[in-house]
Amino acid sequence: MAAACQSAGLAIAAVEAVASGEQRRAYALCRPPGHHAEADRGRGFCLLGNIPVAVMRARALGQAARVAILDWDVHHGNGQQAAFYADPEVFTVSIHQAGNYPLDTGTFEEQGEGAGMGACLNLPLPPGCGLGAYDHAMTELVLPALEAFAPELIVVACGYDACAKDPLGKMLLNSAAFARMTAQVRDLAERVCDGRLVMVHEGGYSEGYVPLCGHAVIQTLADSDISVPDPQNDEIAAWAYQALQPHQRELIDGWRAAWAAAGRL
Ligand SMILES: [Zn+2]
Repeated sequence: MAAACQSAGLAIAAVEAVASGEQRRAYALCRPPGHHAEADRGRGFCLLGNIPVAVMRARALGQAARVAILDWDVHHGNGQQAAFYADPEVFTVSIHQAGNYPLDTGTFEEQGEGAGMGACLNLPLPPGCGLGAYDHAMTELVLPALEAFAPELIVVACGYDACAKDPLGKMLLNSAAFARMTAQVRDLAERVCDGRLVMVHEGGYSEGYVPLCGHAVIQTLADSDISVPDPQNDEIAAWAYQALQPHQRELIDGWRAAWAAAGRL
């Protein structure tokens, strides 16, 4: 439990540093992760909801009123969804593998409740999504939805288990994809919330590949030119089915149309 408290404390420190203006961006390398933990129980390797605790504290201190949380861990971000499901001021977005953990949440139809209706967006992608599907999801729906929400702070639940080498996920991303998604969110934050962006480490179970993806993310977040060669990046990019597939396009475009029809884009 001491480790869980320290992990949540690190997320708190990162959010406070950025929300207060002390730092422009931050990366919290939290362990244990937090995005499956709920108010009254730990779930899926997670004991405390690191991001919900940090966001609730920042809001209680008046450091940020409207917050967007983007979760690209391969598993559904059920913890932050549950924490803010009825809250219209916190927009939770989750891109995950459909039918993976947890099995009982994460459908597109879950969009919030009460005053929070419309402040929850789930993209349950089918297994086998690669560079094309993730980029289509980001550019067509996730980024426009985040921009329309107009947050004052963006927090990313940064899991790496959508990488091609992960034993718990069935997606196809390489380190360059994580760098690209980070750049997309970084640039969005620059446009909509004075650059205020916090990334919090979540899942990722490939001991060999997570460090390369993590470096790519942190390098991008820090605008650093200190690169680490990824010998597997090009090989993964050349795999079949990396391009956007028709069934993936149909799903994502359908969600986009529904989100737009609800007046949220
Ligand atoms: Zn995960």
